[in-house]
Amino acid sequence: MGVHSGEDLLKHVGHDLACVTYGDDLMSGPSNVAVECERCGEVLLDFDVPPERLTRERALKMLTKGGADAYADLAAYFQISDEEIDAARDWKWEEGPKSFT
Ligand SMILES: [Zn+2]
Repeated sequence: MGVHSGEDLLKHVGHDLACVTYGDDLMSGPSNVAVECERCGEVLLDFDVPPERLTRERALKMLTKGGADAYADLAAYFQISDEEIDAARDWKWEEGPKSFT
């Protein structure tokens, strides 16, 4: 797996490459990131990623964007109420035109 020499990489000249993640977990983020050749379906380069624990702040951000329904598990885990999500949304509004307040 992977390229270890110029010869290995030469096979992929002109091919489309993509940088993708694996093992995406809502709580800890991706466990691996890789550069792959889309034509050959071969992993050229990859690294493990140390888990990044999801903070309450990030969870609240996801909840205001994605909605409480989409991330009901998150809301429960961090004990974030619907009122708090609504308040965070309103706060975002106030960041916009100052005439709103
Ligand atoms: Zn290729």
